[in-house]
Amino acid sequence: MNYSVAPVGYVRSCFKEKFAIPRQPQLAPAARGVLELLPPYDTGEAVAGLEQVSHVWLLFLFHQALEDKPRLKVRPPRLGGNKSMGVFATRATHRPNGIGQSVVRLEKVEAGRLWLSGIDLLDGTPVLDIKPYVPYADALSTAVNQMADAPPAPIAVNWSDAALIQAREHGLRLCEPLLELIEQCLAQDPRPAYQIPPPERVYGVKFWDVQVRWHYPQADQIRVLEVVKDL
Ligand code: SAM
Repeated sequence: MNYSVAPVGYVRSCFKEKFAIPRQPQLAPAARGVLELLPPYDTGEAVAGLEQVSHVWLLFLFHQALEDKPRLKVRPPRLGGNKSMGVFATRATHRPNGIGQSVVRLEKVEAGRLWLSGIDLLDGTPVLDIKPYVPYADALSTAVNQMADAPPAPIAVNWSDAALIQAREHGLRLCEPLLELIEQCLAQDPRPAYQIPPPERVYGVKFWDVQVRWHYPQADQIRVLEVVKDL
């Protein structure tokens, strides 16, 4: 039997491409976005009371990773991309029904709009449902996950003088904590685990409307080279 679901809204996010999005929420508190609710959820009635809540669960569609053929095994980047695991043992994006879930901070509630931070969601992500985080039921101090028992160790991020000035200027223009966003996301080391790039290889990603470019002067260090408006 098939069931159909429909989005309650779409996320407008700082992340314009999949690359360099943290692998889980909360890893980049400066990652912000707005969930724009669709009718009939956009009048204020559906979010009444939500202002008493600091965090919400979002159930969403990995709309840019939907596939027709089910995968039983996946290779999570967290395990270096070379070890295969059962799909239900991982939080990989390739899932039977393409459903993701993230706990995100609720910064502000408006009729028709939720302001979010700490997100790991691509711009345009369709959201299927929103539920309040319930600390006594959702935060389990005895829970164990031997594959992911701690956040990934961060990599050092430093800046060229020019990039630092550019990041500050664009942050002011956007009214966003852009410098923090770049540092927090790059500290997760977005490069695929198997890549040891030469120093001359430049990586890039779009956050908001700016292109951020960096390289690896050493394997364990990122240097931000420039932060420029995307044309
Ligand atoms: N916290 C969620 C979960 O556990 O279901 C997502 C975890 S998944 C490993 C996080 C990755 O999903 C991000 O790094 C990003 O590349 C990818 N992603 C985020 N939004 C997406 C979307 N709408 N479509 C496809 N991939 C997406």
